[in-house]
Formats: sequence, structure tokens, C-alpha cells
Amino acid sequence: MIKKFLNNLLDFIYPNRCIFCEEVMPINEKDGICKYCYMEIDFIINDNEPRLSVFSYDDITRFSILRLKYYNKKYYAKIFGKMMYNKLRKINIQHYDYIVYVPMHKKKKKKRGYDQAELIADELAKLSNIPIEKDNLIRIKNTLPQSKVAFKDREKNVKDVFKVLNPQKFENKNILLIDDIYTTGNTLNYCAKELKKANANIICYFTLAKVVHKKYINL
Ligand SMILES: [Zn+2]
Repeated sequence: MIKKFLNNLLDFIYPNRCIFCEEVMPINEKDGICKYCYMEIDFIINDNEPRLSVFSYDDITRFSILRLKYYNKKYYAKIFGKMMYNKLRKINIQHYDYIVYVPMHKKKKKKRGYDQAELIADELAKLSNIPIEKDNLIRIKNTLPQSKVAFKDREKNVKDVFKVLNPQKFENKNILLIDDIYTTGNTLNYCAKELKKANANIICYFTLAKVVHKKYINL
């Protein structure tokens, strides 16, 4: 009885909302996704290492990721990280030595206050017990977001913007490379190039969302 009252009170003060449709959910639904969105989300199930994504980038998932990135919904990263972890648990993955994420430029991170890929990777690392390696793969140029760059110029936009500071650390290591969205793959490819230069062994791309339908490429 008291527990129910407290839960209702908590619900009122801090509503448990679905991170996709923002509707209030019962307090006992703790995974951040309401049952309706769960049915609507296009979960990607037929992919394999070294390319993994949780769901396709569409109208439902896109706005949720935008709220994480630009509207300070930092706690979404915990839910997204858990969704990524749940995906890993379902497939029999190989051993990874490190989780690494596509980093933001330090000036941009300072301005925004956080790096959303880092927050998602933090949660995934915590749940999976795979160590996260921070500040080794870094972004040395503060370029425009890929979504703001014409399609034909995107490859050039991320060329030579990443660098590994301590290559020895990645030598012969298997790396799970995390980002929020896989669009053209250019950004992840240039990160992987630097990791390969450091003699990393296996590099698996693991993104939360993947652009499957062409209409979302420029969004
Ligand atoms: Zn929902």
C-alpha cells in the first residue's frame, strides 16, 4: 500500500516516460520503452559482426536520438546503452578487449556538456564488463556534423580528423567501436583506419541506429 503510494507519488514528480513517444508509462515498466513503441521499432535482427546495429533510423527512433543529442536528455543514454547490451547478449559475440566510441571534438563536448556516444558506450561498458578506452582515439579537427554536409563531401569531411594517441594500447586488441548512427559509414571507417594503423586486430562497428531507408540519409 505504502509502496504503491510512493510509486504513484514518484510517478507524479518524476514521470516514467517512454523515450520514443514521451508518453507516461506505468512505473513498473522500467526499460524506457512503452509496449506500443516496442512493437513499432524496427529492430535489426539479421546483422552480424563486424557490423551491428540495434534498430533502423526512422521517425520514431530519430527524434529520440535528437533529444539525447540536442535537448539534454542525457538519461536516454542509459536506456540506449542497455538496448545495445541486450542485443549483444542475444548473439554469441567474440571476445572484445575494449569498447571505443567515435569521439566528439573536445571544444564541441565542452559546449554541449557531454558526448552522447561516450555516454552510451559508458553504459554498455558497465553492463558488459568490457573495459572502455577513453581519450585514446581522439578527434583532432572540429568538423561540421555529417548531417550538415552535402552527401558528396561527407567522406572528405571526416578524413584525417581522428588520431590515436597511444597506439601500443590497441595493438592486437579486438575493439567494439560505438557510435549513435550509422549512415554512410565514413566516420566509422576513418576511426577504424586509425585503429588499424595502431595494429588493432578485429574492429566491430556497433551503432544504436542504422540508416536503412534512403530518405533519412540527410536528416
Ligand atoms: Zn512509446
